[in-house]
Amino acid sequence: MEDQKMFHLQQRKGRRVILFPLPLQGHINPMLQLASILYNKGFSISIIHTNFNSLNSSNYPRFSFHSIPDGLSKNEASFADMVALVSLLNVKCVAPFKDCLRKMLSNSVEGENVACLITDAGWYFTQSVAENLKIPRLVLRTNSVSYFLAYAAFPLLREKGYIPAQDCEPEAPVPELPPLRVKDIPVFKTDIPETLHQVILELTNQTKVYSGCIWNSFPDLEQVSFATLHKEFPIPMFPIGPFHKYFPASSSSLLSQDHSSISWLNKQPPKSVIYVSFGSIAAINESELLEIAWGLANSKVPFLWVVRPGLVRGAEWTETLPKGFLERLDGRGHIVKWAPQQEVLAHPAIGGFWTHNGWNSTLESICEGVPMICQPCFGDQMVNARYVSHVWKIGLHLERKLERGEIEKTIKRVMVEAEGQEMRERIMYLKEKVDLCLKQGGSSYQSLDNLINYILSF
Ligand code: UDP
Repeated sequence: MEDQKMFHLQQRKGRRVILFPLPLQGHINPMLQLASILYNKGFSISIIHTNFNSLNSSNYPRFSFHSIPDGLSKNEASFADMVALVSLLNVKCVAPFKDCLRKMLSNSVEGENVACLITDAGWYFTQSVAENLKIPRLVLRTNSVSYFLAYAAFPLLREKGYIPAQDCEPEAPVPELPPLRVKDIPVFKTDIPETLHQVILELTNQTKVYSGCIWNSFPDLEQVSFATLHKEFPIPMFPIGPFHKYFPASSSSLLSQDHSSISWLNKQPPKSVIYVSFGSIAAINESELLEIAWGLANSKVPFLWVVRPGLVRGAEWTETLPKGFLERLDGRGHIVKWAPQQEVLAHPAIGGFWTHNGWNSTLESICEGVPMICQPCFGDQMVNARYVSHVWKIGLHLERKLERGEIEKTIKRVMVEAEGQEMRERIMYLKEKVDLCLKQGGSSYQSLDNLINYILSF
């Protein structure tokens, strides 16, 4: 095994890029997609990853993987507080990461020709390590630019009293950040709000000193935000997204994907199915699960529903659904623990996506021309949902309490009414823009060329 790895390393003479993904599904996917894009352009790839949410290297036999001990206890690894988890990882990984990177750089095969380090923006401790070891650090931002600007504005929003938001009218516009309203300002449920604000300050300041920033987005999608970004952060920017459209669907899933989703979809008429998934972290309670179930059932629209283990707080899986729930629907519904989402969204039977609006899910939906029902839960999801429903007008925001009647109505509006058809037309137009930006002469194509030349210049 070790010999085989060395053989691959020696065989490929291109320059090497070392990538370090944050160990969360929504961050792992775009980082490994970026690694594949760079590999296809002739770079050799090394990935450093934590033991926590460890990657399956067998899906990527051409990359060299290095696992580092993150030192998280079982209890820490199951933190629901993402701010606490990420800040802990940024403390515990300093020494093992430094050690691993130093060893890699001094290795005669792998260390030779290393061009740069690309880390997730969430690994903020790596800036000083990179400076110390004199290796250029580029950063991957896995969110939209519009969200990043809202995030960077946190100190200002705090000063103006929008954060915490308890004294503000939720529907009131935030004039400093159009088109956001008070209720669209990113929310992070955390027990350590002061740490969060320190991290945001640190991350925003760091954005001025990175060697460059790579975005899984493209200017035609977020024109105004990109213009502001260039003005406020004058460092090399490389918007080369959407990453997953550079090659057929690949898998960096931490959970195994249930392919019965596709065989079930194969039996459904075109554009008839609503796909429901809230990503890898968001959670709901038991009564919300029931409202969703009855909303789906009463809509009479066929559905493919991802109920991830852990989606329902305090439950194992779907045991709190009424007995025989699916059986009574005569095959009109299918529930899985985890789906091959990119393939699902590209399937002709899919007509809508009820999503939490994580940035990957939002982009994947746009790329397949699937209109959305937005149900953001935290962080960047609120900003993405506002853009989907209000700016691009390719989805409906489910803003009130989760209630079966409201759900049934919203599903019908998107799936069967004229309003849904109009959204479908608008999203098809956006999909065309995606296709154009990736073609020769398109903005992402050009940015990728710039990125490659930039990396080669180090
Ligand atoms: N995903 C998947 N199967 C599922 C649900 C999600 O493969 O059943 C993938 C999805 O394609 C996306 C990622 O998991 O690439 C979720 O990322 P996103 O940014 O949408 O949300 P997060 O999980 O970070 O909240």
